Amino acid sequence: MGAMNDDLTAPGATAAPTGRVPAPDRPHGAGAPLPGAAADARGTVGGTPPGEEADAVRGFWRRLGLPGLVDVHTHFMPERVLRKVWGYFDALGPLTGGLNWPITYRTEEAERTALLRAFGVRAFTAMLYPHKPGMARWLNGWAADFARRTPDCLHTATLYPEPGVEAYVRRAVEEGARVFKAHVQVGAYDPADELLDPVWGLLAEAGTPVVVHCGSGPAPGRHTGPGPIARVLARHPRLRLVVAHLGMPEYEQFLGLAERYEEVRLDTTMVFTDFTEELMPFPRRSLPRLADLGDRVLLGSDFPNIPYPYLHQLHALERLDLGGDWLRSVCHDNAAELFGL
Ligand SMILES: [Zn+2]
Repeated sequence: MGAMNDDLTAPGATAAPTGRVPAPDRPHGAGAPLPGAAADARGTVGGTPPGEEADAVRGFWRRLGLPGLVDVHTHFMPERVLRKVWGYFDALGPLTGGLNWPITYRTEEAERTALLRAFGVRAFTAMLYPHKPGMARWLNGWAADFARRTPDCLHTATLYPEPGVEAYVRRAVEEGARVFKAHVQVGAYDPADELLDPVWGLLAEAGTPVVVHCGSGPAPGRHTGPGPIARVLARHPRLRLVVAHLGMPEYEQFLGLAERYEEVRLDTTMVFTDFTEELMPFPRRSLPRLADLGDRVLLGSDFPNIPYPYLHQLHALERLDLGGDWLRSVCHDNAAELFGL
């Protein structure tokens, strides 16, 4: 989600979080089950040993007849940055609104990639993003190296509206970046900023997907919501925008953008879980629209920064009862096609 650091421009710099999370009015985990919900959501935090969870995740995709999963929204970033992010979630101070957000997969990087492999995640991403100028190039260098040493990670890059952005985005594409991440809330910039106009054009032409956190959850930013990104799409209708978190909480307006622009996709990250249903529930009346967009919904999880086991995200999708074909498309086939896996 939106946790990020404040004063970080290079490795070793100190950081403080900027994201805000609304305080829940009751403890999470007690959300009403969705229609057709499976009785066993297995959403208990920390209750399942890793090997057992891996078996259960593998059982999930095997039952669907899939060769594995593709997860378009996982966070890998320089270790010091990730530790700062975790520190933010731990702080439970005013910035978190006191929200209890235990990080389920707080382990070393090698353990985290091994766990995704044990889950049978065939391909994943390294979502990383700057919150101010001067960071993106450094993050992109790290991400390129991470992709080199992690062949199942889709080479990820990021951007920020700043002089030189067109050049470093072009360079990342030329060096093989397969997906970009942009964070409108943490970065606090207008995605329609004129500095980014040539960048969106370049990415649309290259057909490179861009995962953008542009919804106003968990807390709104100056430029979040469907309006600013809709202005980008009006100028670049072929942009392969992947709306993170299904646009939470403005789900319906972002479904509308996907219905209007055929290259717009939505990722499932944290949506439909007990945790999110409690805070920002997906409107039941829009499930048919979600079903109709089944070829443009992509599995995302926010691993490792999630306050519940990975398996819960999968069960949260399954209990929507949109059918096996929908699940197969969302959990594997759509992303496999998009990235040519
Ligand atoms: Zn995320």
